[in-house]
Amino acid sequence: MHDWTKIIKATTVQDPATGAVNTPIQLSSTFNQASFDEFGKFDYSRSGNPTREVAEHAVATLEDGQFGYLFSTGMAAISSVLMTFSQGDHLIISKYVYGGTFRILEEVLPRFGIEHTFVDLSDLDAVAAAIQPNTKAIYIETPSNPILAVTDIAAVADLAHQHHLIAIADNTFMSPVLQKPLHLGVDIVVHSATKFLAGHSDIVAGAAITNDQELADQIYFIQNAVGATLGVTDCWLLLRGIKTLGVRMQQSSSAAQRIAEWLEQQPQVTRVCYPGLPSNAGYAIQQRQAVNGGAVLSFDVGSETAARTVAETTTIPEFSVSLGGTETILSYPPKMSHAELSVADQAASGITPGLLRFSVGLEDPDDLIADLAQAFAKIAVPAQS
Ligand SMILES: *Cc1c(COP(=O)(O)O)cnc(C)c1O
Repeated sequence: MHDWTKIIKATTVQDPATGAVNTPIQLSSTFNQASFDEFGKFDYSRSGNPTREVAEHAVATLEDGQFGYLFSTGMAAISSVLMTFSQGDHLIISKYVYGGTFRILEEVLPRFGIEHTFVDLSDLDAVAAAIQPNTKAIYIETPSNPILAVTDIAAVADLAHQHHLIAIADNTFMSPVLQKPLHLGVDIVVHSATKFLAGHSDIVAGAAITNDQELADQIYFIQNAVGATLGVTDCWLLLRGIKTLGVRMQQSSSAAQRIAEWLEQQPQVTRVCYPGLPSNAGYAIQQRQAVNGGAVLSFDVGSETAARTVAETTTIPEFSVSLGGTETILSYPPKMSHAELSVADQAASGITPGLLRFSVGLEDPDDLIADLAQAFAKIAVPAQS
């Protein structure tokens, strides 16, 4: 079955009691047990809920996984997966990891004796060199935020397995319709479902998906023990949002490709980061492992002053954090997602003062290009370096 069909079938699950084509929101914390000795499938909603079960099955199906778990936020999903590790374990993490994941690894997990090393995962020799006797996993995020650096998922998963480690991938930026890490050898996929999966900038949610029964049991144990589950109304909104994931990703990614190609021609733009461009260092790998370059890009207009002008004079995009909504979102990583990094650390991660991130929504790309063009007309053309 093709993805678009799978999406609709997985999110259109009849209510067995009434035949309603949409899954009801089962706002019940507890479930009556038929007899003193025989307990039903559901007893308490932290442990399991019928609405959440349908939504968890849907996200698993999209990734071609058997087991899916939904959490209250993307960070709850990621930290619950990381909590399956134990004191004395060591993890290898992409050096371009999401800021919230960085914070958990740097400031929370060390207190529980879980250690990590940040590595540039495009350098497989460096990854191999970072493996210690107590290393348990390699954590991938591709394309990365905000410079869209691409990691070769199959190569890293392969290396992980050679050393009996598991591979974990944050697939938020691509969504399962553009990239399926489980097919490339990854053991656990995590998502901020807040972004493309839910797709409407309305809820915060997270997901973890695997095909491995043992890993699934460990994730479920933490989900139930720690309890950062997704509430049932948000499960329903997630199901509703996922229904249009296929068409949204197709439209937004083809618009992003057009906008990236246009940006490359603009004298005000010193650099375009988009793995759908043949000029991008990750292009060949992206072509191999994903359907296209995705719906997020970033570009540099040379200075903070110019970035400010673009943010202040464009009228269509929302100027905000986050991504993956139906509306185009323009953000300024140096002061938003990556504000905690020092200027030197920002520079080392390619986050230059003129960098803007653009999450392309469902507006007509011609209007977005015209809006950027009128803003670019107000900024200086940077000197060629
Ligand atoms: C937003 C995001 C997260 C965190 O998800 P929340 O839903 O905000 O908790 C994790 N990874 C990536 C790549 C993200 O963009």
